[in-house]
Amino acid sequence: MDITEAATDRRIEAVTDRAYGERAAGWTAEIRRLAAERDAVILAHNYQAPEIQDAADHVGDSLALSRLAAASTARVIVFAGVYFMAETAKILAPDRTVLIPEPQAGCSLADTITAPQLREWKAGHPGAAVVAYVNTSAEVKAEADLCCTSANAAQIVASLPADQEVLFLPDQFLGAYVQRVTGRTNMHIWLGECHVHAGISPAELRRKASADPQAELFIHPECGCSTAALWQAGEGDLPAGRTRILSTGGMLGAARSTTASTVLVATETGMLHQLRQANPAVRWEPVNPGAVCRFMKMTTPASLLRCLREGVHEVTVPAEVAGRARRAVQAMIAVGAPSGAAPAAAGTAAE
Ligand code: SF4
Repeated sequence: MDITEAATDRRIEAVTDRAYGERAAGWTAEIRRLAAERDAVILAHNYQAPEIQDAADHVGDSLALSRLAAASTARVIVFAGVYFMAETAKILAPDRTVLIPEPQAGCSLADTITAPQLREWKAGHPGAAVVAYVNTSAEVKAEADLCCTSANAAQIVASLPADQEVLFLPDQFLGAYVQRVTGRTNMHIWLGECHVHAGISPAELRRKASADPQAELFIHPECGCSTAALWQAGEGDLPAGRTRILSTGGMLGAARSTTASTVLVATETGMLHQLRQANPAVRWEPVNPGAVCRFMKMTTPASLLRCLREGVHEVTVPAEVAGRARRAVQAMIAVGAPSGAAPAAAGTAAE
């Protein structure tokens, strides 16, 4: 490409960016107007598309957003994420209306186990404690003793009596990591995995880390996407001095203070939007640019606008199921330091 072509490309990009910015400003203003009119708080997961993150009240991981849902006084909670997350918000805020813009937004990891399968598993291990990763349906949570996220899974398992068997589900890589960290031998692990996580290849992670000896590696322990990376780091397959296991808040904090010129990010690519806003001087490089959750990206400005305008789609959880699930979810949000959720308008601060 010669200099003239490059300059032309930059002008086209600038015009495209400006056009996008003008359209986005229109959506965002209308979304904010409707949210105020409906007394709605919009919670967006880190893996939502950038334009959805920018229109939300808060952006964070599922633990942070669960805490925000529980603490919110808004009449309506709009959950821009996947279905189990909106269910979790409803479990924690049963008196509020919870809406999800895209009710078809599922989760391949949550789908690996159903409540009947879990009941059958439990029947084979009487007396075992059931620890369910938050990426599960409300019915599965109702069968669990405790829920966890990858940020507090090891703490939750370590809190159980050493002689009690543990059934851990559904992420096999997070389970293997927790087993190694806790040294627990009486732990049984469900063989589930997430399709996005499966797309972050351990070989690619190692190759990119060794190809750029100055780059830092940020691994986010959430949503199942990076549990294989967690395993590798623990096994010493990745350079310990440059590898950092960070929650969302930790990742944003580290983004502001890092002196690395390049950071490789092992998680779903939606997280890059916040990192680039936090420190534009760094080159933020996804370990796998194809690590995109198609369920997370189902939410669009159009579906978010429709959700607010028409009050669709309401998420309900039967009271009896919600009651049993609530105990397990409350145990999850009580353990571990709060992970960060950024107020989207500010774009950088972690709560
Ligand atoms: S990234 Fe994986 S674990 Fe997270 S919501 Fe998507 S399918 Fe589920």
